[in-house]
Amino acid sequence: MAEVIKAPRGTRDILGEEVFLWQRLEEVVRKYALLFGYEEIRTPIFEHTELFTRGVGEETDIVQKEMYTFTDKGGRSLTLRPEGTAPVVRAYLEHGFSVHEPRVKWYYIGPMFRYERPQAGRMRQFHQFGFEALGFGEPACDAEIIHLAWMIYQELGLLDLSLEVNSIGCPLCRPRYIARLREYLAPLEDRLCENCRRRLVSNPLRVLDCKVESCQEVFGEATFPKIQDFLCDACRKHERELFTLLENLRIPFAVNHRLVRGLDYYTRTVFEIKVRHLGAQDAVGGGGRYDGLSQALGGPDVPGVGFASGMERIVLLLEKTTQPSFPFRVYLAPQDEAGEGVLLSLSRELVACGIPFHLDFATKSLKYHLKHAQRMRIRFVVIVGESERTRGVFALKDLASGEQVSLPLSELLARLRKERELC
Ligand code: AMP
Repeated sequence: MAEVIKAPRGTRDILGEEVFLWQRLEEVVRKYALLFGYEEIRTPIFEHTELFTRGVGEETDIVQKEMYTFTDKGGRSLTLRPEGTAPVVRAYLEHGFSVHEPRVKWYYIGPMFRYERPQAGRMRQFHQFGFEALGFGEPACDAEIIHLAWMIYQELGLLDLSLEVNSIGCPLCRPRYIARLREYLAPLEDRLCENCRRRLVSNPLRVLDCKVESCQEVFGEATFPKIQDFLCDACRKHERELFTLLENLRIPFAVNHRLVRGLDYYTRTVFEIKVRHLGAQDAVGGGGRYDGLSQALGGPDVPGVGFASGMERIVLLLEKTTQPSFPFRVYLAPQDEAGEGVLLSLSRELVACGIPFHLDFATKSLKYHLKHAQRMRIRFVVIVGESERTRGVFALKDLASGEQVSLPLSELLARLRKERELC
């Protein structure tokens, strides 16, 4: 026999009871999107590679190491989307929103692809939901996005959340900080890791989020320059207003001077939300302001702010804390072929009443059906054998109590309707 084919490394199937947790998560995301007035956008799974090299940045790990890029049969270079913001801004520009309706609030849910080393909570195909507000330059919108993320996590029951915020300035003030950073680090270069030495030339801000211990020691020194001291008046004002708004919303936060995020298009606000108990991969979501992205993609000057959250990591937490709520369903267990016919007719009535069901077939024993129903977490089983057919009734077994009753059609439907409402 040929070897059974497995899912590729870094991908996985989502099935069984776990699916209910994903559905719950998506339900909560959609609920808050509706509440805050964000509309759904669905962009393609693959885009022109150039969208990400320009929109995410040549110097980022994503573009340098992690993209799933391929040439299609027409010779185009395409890439499976590694993140959602650049595609959303591409769609915004392509459909002329910047001209006709410059202020939009959108959200997305879907798979993303990055060639990373897989581990718990880090996959090559993973899922994100994200919110983007385009055309909004006000700090209140940064606060709204953070508020939205915070509310979603709270509703999902994620405990021990921590929010870190920073400002990385704008093209006016950031170069002064970068110059200072380079100057400060130049004599310390041999204490930095190889990656940081390279970044010092190509993308010095990224040096700040290096996790290597010897680099951490350098950054921890008291004289290390902080970007906060280099912000221009407008960036400083933006940051101060955001902090006040977060305080008013009673969202606790800490300023992390070294939070920079891996993407080049961020300006001013950057933030990250972490959850304790997640181990090394403790960031559930992050985002910030990306006022430079539209222009990087060839569009006009359009401010924007957004947030993306990993979903695998949330589901890992939900698995520990939440009992999945199973939908109400009825298991239909025929005892013989004629019983199959009766239950098939019953299924029409159930559809009309909006009662979900699982119809199995008479090729299996009653013992099998009862076990199967239990495995499927279905509480009520309707059984039809010869004795039910001759009496014109349905046997209804409640697997929770063990009780079994015989009911004519109308009473069966009434009982099931009642049970569904109680559920
Ligand atoms: P980013 O788009 O890199 O800002 O990531 C936002 C969030 O997506 C992170 O905080 C993670 O929760 C999640 N995430 C990023 N990369 C992965 C991955 N490879 N596997 C699972 N989740 C991820």
